[in-house]
Formats: sequence, structure tokens, C-alpha cells
Amino acid sequence: MSGLQQICVLGATGSIGLSTLDVIARHPQHYQVFALTGFRRLAELQALCLRYRPRYAVVPDAGAARELQGVLRSAGLPTDVLVGEAGLCEVAAHPEVDAVMAAIVGAAGLKPTLAAVAAGKKILLANKEALVMSGALFMQAVRRSGAVLLPIDSEHNAIFQCLPSDYARGLGAVGVRRILLTASGGPFRETPLAELEQVTPEQACAHPNWSMGRKISVDSASMMNKGLELIEACWLFDATPAQIEVVIHPQSVIHSLVDYVDGSVLAQLGNPDMRTPISHALAWPARIDSGVAPLDLFRIARLDFSAPDEVRFPCLRLARQAAEAGGTAPALLNAANEVAVAAFLERRIRFPEIAVIIDAVLTTESAQAVDDLDTVLAADACARAAAGVWLSRHGR
Ligand code: NAD
Ligand code: MG
Repeated sequence: MSGLQQICVLGATGSIGLSTLDVIARHPQHYQVFALTGFRRLAELQALCLRYRPRYAVVPDAGAARELQGVLRSAGLPTDVLVGEAGLCEVAAHPEVDAVMAAIVGAAGLKPTLAAVAAGKKILLANKEALVMSGALFMQAVRRSGAVLLPIDSEHNAIFQCLPSDYARGLGAVGVRRILLTASGGPFRETPLAELEQVTPEQACAHPNWSMGRKISVDSASMMNKGLELIEACWLFDATPAQIEVVIHPQSVIHSLVDYVDGSVLAQLGNPDMRTPISHALAWPARIDSGVAPLDLFRIARLDFSAPDEVRFPCLRLARQAAEAGGTAPALLNAANEVAVAAFLERRIRFPEIAVIIDAVLTTESAQAVDDLDTVLAADACARAAAGVWLSRHGR
């Protein structure tokens, strides 16, 4: 590694953003925070700005910008505060930025992440929804700009580590038979099916192994997270859905595996702590200390595996169908899921209704071929409107 790398952290106040800053703070000789962005937790963003002294901060509106700018100026900081999606895109594509951590949750991260891609940055991709929505366009843009795309999702980071460096020649060409995508099964892996009607947002967000933001926690509980990850893996590794098998592995120690034609199966293991994939991607191809404790296999003692149950987890089936349908189907799936998860978190629907809403939207809205970003954004808007119609028709 040479020189001081300038890092833009999109979604700095979130779970991934904070883990990223924790890793950066361990290596001040290698990384400097160039920009930090936040959306709701602006007191936290202010504290992060005072600590990391970025060149830019981005907030959602002009009022918040004035307030933060005032505080940072009186503290003598050089930080300029920018506003909204335009501000996010500006810092993501800024000529002085070396790497962008894309850690905004959901579709809100799409344009800023694509701005970083178009500018040919090194992209540390946590925001899987952006790739799920716009897969073909996203990957074309990566190839066109020469951006370096490194997966942060622990499973995809594991797969990346288990693949040879020339995997872009094609999985078949490098001898891969299939990818084994591991899933913990979340907090409801063994909950009696009838009880799923009554589970609360607090129970859904209490993941057994990982501490994460609320949206991805609910996605993990419904296994839509694994469905989104299946689609993400297809784009990242140029795989078909049939080449990817989901494996329930409740301990979350193996983060995914690659099965080769000679019978070799390579896995990446580690404690469930996102600072490992974040450090891997930040320093790649070098290795740096992440602060994660060494894996203690004697304490873990056993690793379990089973096949996923698509009756319990219909979201996984819906995502696989969307992956196979292609076009705008994954964007429709993603948007319907975002609306349904928000409604569940607001206690307007029951947990099993998340899948019911997505199924209804995918049945009423037909998928189109993706020509450009407007097609993707139109599909996203259609699915949100259709999910809204479902909610109002059912009195929620
Ligand atoms: P989080 O909810 O903790 O943080 C989300 C961040 O996005 C916050 O900084 C928030 O301010 C920002 N944000 C939210 N809405 C926004 C909007 N409309 N405009 C601009 N910024 C907005 O979420 P997280 O758990 O850190 O997850 C972030 C992303 O990383 C998600 O796409 C998630 O799927 C992915 N991911 C997370 C984990 C994990 O362990 N947390 C693991 C793998 C992948
Ligand atoms: Mg993951």
C-alpha cells in the first residue's frame, strides 16, 4: 500500500459506516476520511465530523446543512456541508476520492453508488439493493469506467476470496461447479410457523449472530436478504441462479464456499464481524488488522448445515423467481420489499405479510427489459405504488 487514501463513506452513521470508520481509525497512516454522509442521525454525524474532520459532509436538507455547517465552522473545521442526492453524488465522484464505501441502505443508495462507479472509483459495495435494482447497467458501467468493485457483503466477500483472481474469464473457465451461499436462517429459523403471525419488529431485529441496521435485520429474518444476495452474487460473479445454492449454517462462521470441478471446496471462515470484509476490501490486495478477534475453533466446536425451507421463507423463492425472470423483476422485488419492511417496522402489517405484499406486486406488475436507468427507476416507483395500493386496500 502506498500513500494516504482518501475515503468517502456514504451512510457513515449506519452499522457498516461505523464499522468502516473503526477500521480507518486503526490505520491513520493509510486512510483519511474525505467525506461523511448521514440522513436522520445528524447528532451522530456531527460527532463523527468533529472526530474525523472530513473535507465534506452531506445531509438531507438545507436546514440541517446550515445547522451542521455552523457547528463545524465554529469548531474551526474545514468541512463543507452539501445537501441531498446531488451532494451524495458529488462526494462519491469527487476527483480527490480514492475509494467509496457504499453503505446507504436501500434504493436511496443507487444514484450515489452509480456516480462513484461512473467516476471509476474503487467501490466497496455494501448497498446490495443498488446492484439488485440495476444489475446489468451497474456492471456495464463498472466495465466502462474501469471502477474496481469489491464486495462488502460477508458472503460475497468470502466468495471473492475463494475465487481465483481471473474469475472474470467465467466461472466455468476457472473450474467452478457452483457457489454455496451460506445463511444463518435468522432469528425465526425454528420459530413454529403459526407464531410468525405474532412476531414483533424487536424480535425480527434481534439477529442471533450479527448486529446490523433494522432493514437488513428484517430482511435476514424473512430471508429476503439471502434472496437479494443471490441476485447480487449472480451479477458480481456472472453466475446463473442455478449455479448458486443457499445453505443454512446457523453459526455464521463459514461466510460462503466455492465448489470446484475437481471436488475441492474452498471456504472463508471468521468471526461474524463486518470489520473483516471491510478491512479486506479497503486494503485489497494487501491485508491489514481489522480489530476482529482470532477465530477460536475449539470454542465453536461444531458447524451445522441444512437446506432452506421455502415454505417458511417464501421471500427466498420470490427472489429466485425474480432472478430467473430478469429485466426489471429484481427492481420490482426490491422496491416492494422496502415498502413492506417499512410497514412491518411501523407495525402496520404482520411479518408473513411482507412476502404476501411482494408476491402481490410481482403478480400485478410485469417485468420489462432494462434499457436505461429510467426503466429501473420507473419499475421502482411502480412497485412502491402497487405495494401502497395493497396497504390501503387492506386498511393499513
Ligand atoms: P443502517 O440502517 O445501519 O445505516 C444506513 C445508512 O444509510 C445510515 O447512515 C443512514 O443515514 C443512511 N440512509 C438511510 N436512508 C437514506 C437516504 N434516504 N438517503 C441517504 N442516506 C440514507 O444500515 P446498515 O446495516 O449499515 O446497512 C447498510 C447497507 O449495507 C445495506 O444495503 C445493507 O444491506 C448492507 N449490508 C449491511 C450489513 C451489516 O452487517 N449491517 C452486512 C451486509 C450488507
Ligand atoms: Mg450478507
